[in-house]
Amino acid sequence: MQVIDLKLTHTNYNIYLQQGILGKIADMLPDVFSGSKIAIITDSNVSELYLSELSCQLAQKYLVVEIVVPAGEESKRLEVAADIYNKLSAARISRSDLIVALGGGVVGDLAGFVAATYMRGIPFVQIPTSLLAQVDSSIGGKVAVDIPSGKNLVGAFYQPKAVYIDPNVLNTLTDRFYYDGLAEVIKYACIKDAALFEILKQLGSREQIQSQIQEIVLRCLNTKKHYVQLDEFDTGERMFLNYGHTIGHAVEKYFDFTSYTHGECVAMGMAHITKQSEALGLTDSGVSQKLQQLLIQYRLPYHLPESGEEFISALLRAVAVDKKNLNKKLNLVLIKDIGESFLHRIDSSDMHKFI
Ligand code: NAD
Repeated sequence: MQVIDLKLTHTNYNIYLQQGILGKIADMLPDVFSGSKIAIITDSNVSELYLSELSCQLAQKYLVVEIVVPAGEESKRLEVAADIYNKLSAARISRSDLIVALGGGVVGDLAGFVAATYMRGIPFVQIPTSLLAQVDSSIGGKVAVDIPSGKNLVGAFYQPKAVYIDPNVLNTLTDRFYYDGLAEVIKYACIKDAALFEILKQLGSREQIQSQIQEIVLRCLNTKKHYVQLDEFDTGERMFLNYGHTIGHAVEKYFDFTSYTHGECVAMGMAHITKQSEALGLTDSGVSQKLQQLLIQYRLPYHLPESGEEFISALLRAVAVDKKNLNKKLNLVLIKDIGESFLHRIDSSDMHKFI
């Protein structure tokens, strides 16, 4: 088992990574939880696959409450959170109990948000089941729900007591969500891990990737740990994790979060900004081609879906209201070479050069 310890200002916790760890949660929880009641929050897809196994296991030691929300981003809403508060309250869950988030990034963000706010905060642990959640969203304590004016606009920094990652559960992901998560993996390779980029280049099929998945997830976790420890509250170094996200978020928003997944938009964002920064002489020549090749290999989009004036203006408007756009200044994350990223501060009015 790989154990990654995250050391933060007010708390430390471990991320446990092992194939088959899902079957050992009941044995491991006593390290972080001494209460008697557990509420498992999951979604309608993951519940079909893993809920009864986990629930039966935990029921040997604890009183278990199951809460299942519909799968999909639509569940990351205050109304769904309110419904969960009522269910927790009806089950008399208190601050000495525990929430277990079993699912992808949607469940992790929603259950984490509920944990941060129910009774002013109750402990929770993450069992991420999508690749995106295993390498990214379950680590670092960002929890949130969406509101009509934007994604993740209501939330908190609230760290889990532990994260348990079982790469075996990735076998049941659809191809689309498997490759979606690989976009974030490619992001880590581009910003800080050239060796990971080389590993990824050698792999093609999903079976080949899955045979190396523990090593791949571990490398991503170490990079995420690096940035989260440097900048827990996302005011500086953690920005590097936004490579590809400025344009990616704008594309996601343009299509109302329906046509493309988060990872697909990040892939387009990485490819586009790197092509533009190479044209501006900020990125070494040939780097955007290398990135494009890998995105093609991983079945990810590598250019913007449209190029018309109306589309580009919409992207620029979306970037202008992005929460990372502070005082009309934007910190763009660019790469000089694969594995070598840097921040490039621009006036928001110059963003058109990168779109
Ligand atoms: P998701 O949670 O919707 O999961 C994707 C799909 O895969 C869903 O249909 C889900 O039911 C299904 N699924 C999950 N695990 C499965 C498994 N093992 N087998 C079969 N199906 C499974 O989406 P996601 O891509 O995991 O996460 C996206 C969310 O994460 C977004 O809301 C985004 O804002 C958030 N996010 C948060 C952070 C953070 O730091 N908190 C970082 C990145 C993304």
